[in-house]
Amino acid sequence: MNRRPPGYLKEPKNIIHDYIERNKKGKALNPYGVEQEDQSLYLAICREFDSFDDFLYEVYNDTGDDRYLPETVRKQQRWSLDKIKEELDRIYKQREIIKYHNKISGYNKKQYKIMRMLIYYFSSIERGLKNFNFIIRANHLERLCPVCKSNVLKYNSRKTICDDCRKSQ
Ligand SMILES: [Zn+2]
Repeated sequence: MNRRPPGYLKEPKNIIHDYIERNKKGKALNPYGVEQEDQSLYLAICREFDSFDDFLYEVYNDTGDDRYLPETVRKQQRWSLDKIKEELDRIYKQREIIKYHNKISGYNKKQYKIMRMLIYYFSSIERGLKNFNFIIRANHLERLCPVCKSNVLKYNSRKTICDDCRKSQ
């Protein structure tokens, strides 16, 4: 989080702005998550608004985006790393076309959630995928060699590491 200028969080519009920024970065929006990760923002919300729900209705009024309605925000759950790995394995096995961007029509909502979780944990999709030894190539998930993390393993190959790494072992 960048340093905020003094008095910045006394302005409700700045509070709303920073909260929306969290959403863009895939960070938690629920009260507990905000409190854990950005306590000054959380305290500002409590100070400037009657309740967290009142605040959410303000954000909703400003943006017209129903993802900010209290019932939606409270449903937001963070996935465990195991759950993310399980989902990535599934996408790989099923050879799903990668289509996660919510600005394109027909995007895959589940993939969108996975990518948001990767950003949340690893701060970028690429780094998150790499952590699980995956990479996106030609709109598909491919497996990376876990040793060098650069060579791509052939789809469904039974090899667990790439030829280069095997030779040098
Ligand atoms: Zn390798």
